[in-house]
Amino acid sequence: MKLILLGAPGAGKGTQADILCKELDIPTISTGNILRAAIKNGTPTGMKAKAFMDEGKLVPDDVIIGIITERVAEEDCANGYILDGVPRTIAQAEAMEKAGIVFDAVVSIEISDEVIMERMSGRRVCEHCGASYHLVAVPPKQEGICDKCGGKLVQRKDDAPETVKARLEVYHKETEPLKDFYAQRGLLKSVENQPTVAETSQVILRALGK
Ligand code: AMP
Repeated sequence: MKLILLGAPGAGKGTQADILCKELDIPTISTGNILRAAIKNGTPTGMKAKAFMDEGKLVPDDVIIGIITERVAEEDCANGYILDGVPRTIAQAEAMEKAGIVFDAVVSIEISDEVIMERMSGRRVCEHCGASYHLVAVPPKQEGICDKCGGKLVQRKDDAPETVKARLEVYHKETEPLKDFYAQRGLLKSVENQPTVAETSQVILRALGK
């Protein structure tokens, strides 16, 4: 199963990708997590990406396409993968098609901007492994500590309200047109965000016929 998760920043793509990767036994590829790790490690890619990310802007397509083509060629992707946060532009989607990267389904999680603005204030991520939590919806077992690796949970710099607004604008302008792009290819499955994480997982799995 080769899957794309589409949706606005804060729609719950990362959380759902974590669940689906266990259900379907395939890895998740999150360009956001890869870029944050690159920044932390001070790599050339990280240095190039940082200013864009801090402002809530998209990192240039060529950087992203390089990351993705390398990552999907790795051995653990042989049986499929879940892309979280990529593609984010038509140009990225076209470049992936050109590189022969094909998909079985594209799931778009639908959620209003208002709910996202409320939600983002509670999001926390592990500064070590990138795992995602929410103070109310997905709290860690121990406050401030990652369940998976024991790392420290922090608020992402780009989750500040003004940056979230900028990211939502970018989403509507650059990423939302991908829904039509994949609908034309017969791959789009739109699902409504549900009151709980578990219910949203259920509607996604149902849309995938699982
Ligand atoms: P995310 O963790 O998916 O919300 O991504 C955080 C930030 O990383 C975005 O606001 C962008 O600056 C950058 N980013 C992640 N994925 C992409 C992508 N596919 N194309 C461009 N920029 C990206």
